[in-house]
Amino acid sequence: MIGIYGGTFDPVHYGHLRTALEVKEAAGLDEVRFVPCRFPPHRAAPETDPERRLKMLELALHDAEPGFRIDTRELDRSGPSYMADTLASIRAEIGARPLCLIVGLDAFLGLPRWHRWRELFDLAHLIVMRRPGAASDFPGDLGPYLRERRTDQAGTLSRQPSGSICFVDVTQLDISATRIRKAVRTGKSPRYLIPEPVRQFILDERLYVPS
Ligand code: ATP
Repeated sequence: MIGIYGGTFDPVHYGHLRTALEVKEAAGLDEVRFVPCRFPPHRAAPETDPERRLKMLELALHDAEPGFRIDTRELDRSGPSYMADTLASIRAEIGARPLCLIVGLDAFLGLPRWHRWRELFDLAHLIVMRRPGAASDFPGDLGPYLRERRTDQAGTLSRQPSGSICFVDVTQLDISATRIRKAVRTGKSPRYLIPEPVRQFILDERLYVPS
């Protein structure tokens, strides 16, 4: 079973890496593919160009957990990086193998604003990374989807190619790329929030500092 972990990764940090590992173990994923996006449709453009965001991911994943890979299809495609297109192109390659899209709880709550969001369930399962004990009462358009599709057993996702929603409790690491960029901009160190080679790259390339 393959998990897709999308993001801007500007920069990649231990919040991404640790949660990816916990989801991989909880759901029994063979592979986690980190998919950096080129043009995020739902938020401001990343500060760093795609090439250098990709380089930071490569540095972070060098010698990483077995099964962690980078998938550059969104960088190779022009136009907005819609997850429905990304999953459709992966599905065309993997046939009926089970596929899971991994998202944080915040991203899940914003799902009805995603382009062709209902199609996502035809293409993949959804794994929602949740803070242990967080509320799981979802109003609006998501409610009916959840009632029909929810499972609490991540291990059962591999029985079908797509269509379920599963919450996985992950260790909450209060790390965000926004805070890392701000720390660097204000002369503070991001050490121990990001892999050391990524920190070195940020310094060498003078990322996130006013020019
Ligand atoms: P930014 O601060 O620039 O918005 P970010 O740190 O949220 O960035 P993204 O690359 O936008 O990182 O995130 C990609 C995915 O990783 C999203 O699904 C997001 O919910 C998840 N994510 C990011 N940080 C964490 C964290 N500390 N714990 C769990 N999930 C995280």
